[in-house]
Amino acid sequence: MFRKIFPTKCVVKVAQRYYGTTVRPRICIVGAGPAGFYTAQYILKHLDNSDIDIVEKLPVPFGLVRFGVAPDHPEVKNVINTFTKTAENPRVRFLGNLSLGKDFTLQELRERYHAVLLTYGAERDNTLNIPNETLQNVLSAREFVAWYNGLPGFENLNPDLSGESMTLLGQGNVAVDVARIVLSSKTDITEYALEALSQSRIKTVHLVGRRGPLQAAFTIKELREMLKLSNCATKWRVDDFDHVEETIPNLPRPRKRITELMVKSLAEQEQHKTPNSGRCFQPIFFRSPVNFIGTGKVEAVEYVTNKLVEGRALPTDQRETIATDLVCRSIGYRAVSVDNHINFDDRKGCVINAGGRVLKQNLTGSDQTIDDIEDKYEIGLYASGWLATGPTGVILTTMNNSFGVADTVCRDFKSNTIRLKGSRTGLDLSGRAYVSWNGWKAIDSEEIRLGEAKGKLREKLTCIQTMLQIASNASD
Ligand SMILES: Cc1cc2nc3c(=O)[nH]c(=O)nc-3n(C[C@H](O)[C@H](O)[C@H](O)COP(=O)(O)OP(=O)(O)OC[C@H]3O[C@@H](n4cnc5c(N)ncnc54)[C@H](O)[C@@H]3O)c2cc1C
Repeated sequence: MFRKIFPTKCVVKVAQRYYGTTVRPRICIVGAGPAGFYTAQYILKHLDNSDIDIVEKLPVPFGLVRFGVAPDHPEVKNVINTFTKTAENPRVRFLGNLSLGKDFTLQELRERYHAVLLTYGAERDNTLNIPNETLQNVLSAREFVAWYNGLPGFENLNPDLSGESMTLLGQGNVAVDVARIVLSSKTDITEYALEALSQSRIKTVHLVGRRGPLQAAFTIKELREMLKLSNCATKWRVDDFDHVEETIPNLPRPRKRITELMVKSLAEQEQHKTPNSGRCFQPIFFRSPVNFIGTGKVEAVEYVTNKLVEGRALPTDQRETIATDLVCRSIGYRAVSVDNHINFDDRKGCVINAGGRVLKQNLTGSDQTIDDIEDKYEIGLYASGWLATGPTGVILTTMNNSFGVADTVCRDFKSNTIRLKGSRTGLDLSGRAYVSWNGWKAIDSEEIRLGEAKGKLREKLTCIQTMLQIASNASD
């Protein structure tokens, strides 16, 4: 990749300057999710003699691969094997249980490392800002997912699953994951959630989107899984599919395939009996929530009916109220700034950056060339993954983005944009209760041992104190 970007002459010159020093580049990566591990992997390979610390808020690594990806999709979690190889490289240190913004500042990191990469993800959620959003049992999908996936701090969420109907606002894959977990037989879910879900009386899950079937955000794989779910019927609203079939021949391929699948399922739905379980998955299109109704606890959602104008959902004067006992907003995650020195765009919810280099300020118009690096960029400060791009895309998207940013980091070292003037000490760890990679391995072994006893792959620990206790017995 390096060769493709620079002409050969330039490579030689740059390499001489870079190798002219004996100082080892010391890099800090903040956040041990996919973005953190992929940037580390690339830098290890392309920047000789560099040393990397991966600093993580939790005692355990892997971010949303551990706490987001659905527990019935274990194959997605195989990326953990690659991340483990990276973490076990002698040039890498994992420092868990250390949080930027709480245990140390960005300034401290910048003084102690030649380069800092922010990869701490997007851990909040968007709100709808409509009346009664704080009623009991109006939650976010982020909280619900964190609860069933055992993220520390969410074990007492206690969603009330005693009603028969649940509403998911939003039609992305996260919403479909939640629908599937609620309507299916359960797998390797954290014990307390497994127990609660096995007592759940929810039979109907509405998946509500503001636009139509042709704009649905879920992907075909996720839809197929729902359609194949045993003991669960899918019911579409016929009116939502007005004129949809005739557009199919002109659709681009992925959209065409998913639309064909929806239309086929719609055509077949009359023949399917309601299963004995009474479970039903009901996608609903062209509706935007405008009000939550209930006294104390949510009882219904009021929607405005939308019409599509040039692909945009515009409200009409029609309203519809649909009863529900539990609501999860699934309208996206949101990153936050955890340190005042991070140049952050609150509106977009991401670090202000250009191709991963953190900007001193937002670039406008003619500024948008990358010439005057020193004027425009915070030298040696980068961001990748959901924190940099906003919370969209799958692990593969995050990998591509992170490899690209890591390549920029390597080039900035090699071109002397980041000057290796003196060696850097790295984070001062004295007196800090951090978890090393061996500490994580001890936690991992304990989770696997607890899981074996229950016939599961693992039983996740959710108490941070217990994790720290187990990790503290591991040798470094
Ligand atoms: C519910 C859900 C399900 C998904 N399912 C799939 C799927 O099936 N397949 C797929 O390909 N993609 C899936 N994705 C997308 C995938 O998870 C993301 O693309 C990816 O995790 C983004 O990586 P990241 O490193 O940017 O963020 P994250 O994975 O969020 O990692 C950020 C890390 O930073 C840490 N951190 C946070 N704050 C601090 C701090 N202040 N200091 C230090 N560390 C900090 C966090 O604890 C975390 O470990 C899913 C996403 C969600 C939300």
